[in-house]
Amino acid sequence: MRVPLLDLHPQMAPLRQEILAAVTEVIDSGGYILGPRVESLEAAVAAYCEVPHAIGVSSGTDALLVSLMALEIGPGDLVLTTPYSFFATMGCILRLGARPLFVDIDPVSFNIDPAAARRTLEGLPSAEAARVKAMVPVHLYGQCAAMEPLLALAREYGLAVVEDAAQAIGARYPLAADAWPRAGGLGDAGCFSFFPSKNLGGIGDGGMVVCHDEALAAKIRTLRGHGGAPKYHHEMVGGNFRLDPLQAVVLEIKLRHLPKWHADRRRNAERYQQLLAATGLVEAGLVTPPEAVYQQAAAAAGVADYHIYNQFVLRVSRRDALFAFLQQAGIGCEVYYPVPLHKQGCLREAGYHRQSFPVAEQAAAETLALPIYPELTPAMQSRVVAVISEFYQLEGPMV
Ligand SMILES: *Cc1c(COP(=O)(O)O)cnc(C)c1O
Repeated sequence: MRVPLLDLHPQMAPLRQEILAAVTEVIDSGGYILGPRVESLEAAVAAYCEVPHAIGVSSGTDALLVSLMALEIGPGDLVLTTPYSFFATMGCILRLGARPLFVDIDPVSFNIDPAAARRTLEGLPSAEAARVKAMVPVHLYGQCAAMEPLLALAREYGLAVVEDAAQAIGARYPLAADAWPRAGGLGDAGCFSFFPSKNLGGIGDGGMVVCHDEALAAKIRTLRGHGGAPKYHHEMVGGNFRLDPLQAVVLEIKLRHLPKWHADRRRNAERYQQLLAATGLVEAGLVTPPEAVYQQAAAAAGVADYHIYNQFVLRVSRRDALFAFLQQAGIGCEVYYPVPLHKQGCLREAGYHRQSFPVAEQAAAETLALPIYPELTPAMQSRVVAVISEFYQLEGPMV
């Protein structure tokens, strides 16, 4: 039995007629840029994320870029972020002429370690500390970073907070016992991606920025259209960061099913936890995703979306050999991410390669993502776990 890392067909099949009708309606309307369909999706995403403003943009990358532009991040500025993320997190910082200020991650959650962030800021010479303007925490794999201590740090140091929530739309975070805001609604701006492999994916590229501040929302809206306000009058230089109505109608249909898909992914995660525990591999050292980070508090509060499982990521020994073994057996898997950001070639000249973030480097060497999409069947999951188990039987024990 082959098990793909992701199969979008079973999600599209039951929605196909509805989506085709909506797409046809866009084509027949003749309105192909922004307009009421994009506004309707913006309102739906704002309501879902429990924030007042949402601005549809061309991708998750452009959501990050336009947010940092609106916060006036530029040459000479430092932006505190994680070395363990998709390239876009740091790419947007570099494209604005700013520099990433990396902070190592927490080994359990894979997200920025707030204690390390504090040590980094406290250890900076004051001239450099004054250049730190913003923080970009990433909610990796679908679970929020430790935002409470990070927000406290941001307040203390006067940093803007842009959440890279590309993998975490809908994920809730325990800001207080009775307040579980959703990802994106915690900082100054929250950025989502509608890349097809995200929990809410379009039929192409797309993204969204959400925020609380009306003036910031207006500025992002203006920057999305080259910074022209009114049209053809430019006090600011923006870009073409617009979301298409074609994507908007598809995404609005799919958004209605998102809570169910999140729940299905969580059920699949639980099933993996049980299957993996039964193999004895967990006792031998295989590390499954850290359910415990917010799960207990969520259960006590009756909150469901404490983790939306965009990815289900293991830590294993002999990762590369296991990866090859799974692929050979027809099991889709992937490494997110094999090269930490500070080791990327584009930073060679800038001296970052001499820096060391041991927790991120270890994660890059040990992590492996398994298929977790909502329509995965119990038989497929059993097959994935059987092949993993077979690998360690053939190739020697876990540690
Ligand atoms: C997907 C992703 C992005 C970029 O989103 P695109 O829509 O592909 O531009 C940024 N950051 C993270 C963490 C992502 O997973």
